[in-house]
Amino acid sequence: MRQPDLALAATTLGEARAVAPGSGDELHLAALIPAELARVAIARGAIEEARRHASAASAAQRAHRCRRCAAEIGPALVETAIAADDLEGADAARAAALESAYRLNLPIAIASMRLAGGRLLAARGDAVGALVDLEAALDTFDRLGPRHLVAETRAAMVGLERLEPESA
Ligand SMILES: [Zn+2]
Repeated sequence: MRQPDLALAATTLGEARAVAPGSGDELHLAALIPAELARVAIARGAIEEARRHASAASAAQRAHRCRRCAAEIGPALVETAIAADDLEGADAARAAALESAYRLNLPIAIASMRLAGGRLLAARGDAVGALVDLEAALDTFDRLGPRHLVAETRAAMVGLERLEPESA
């Protein structure tokens, strides 16, 4: 895996352990690992592989009915759907994961969903809406980390400039 992916996996695992110390890590890993693999596959441009990993992550999350995992795998599900050009699927995944993140009050998971939501709005051509989400995400990552998501969010903001009309 690339270093940022490892860093994210470590962050998600840390959060998962914090909320469910009594339950085995394996249950969460069954959802979290395929979610990370989906992100790695997207980075390689292997969209079909990403979809397989994303649906494995989703099935594992449903199997142990875990709200924490629903929140944590959300960004990977949204990004996979965007990469597969399934914007409605991305919307549904975003809404479900964001609700879980808010209910558990997980600031980094909420910010990660706003980063994914910003990417979704950008994919729809809504640069203004995307910027609102990305700025909110950046504010959280700046304060709480992880640092690699600061860089990812900044990169997504730079990508938005291509969407801006020449003259407004
Ligand atoms: Zn879980």
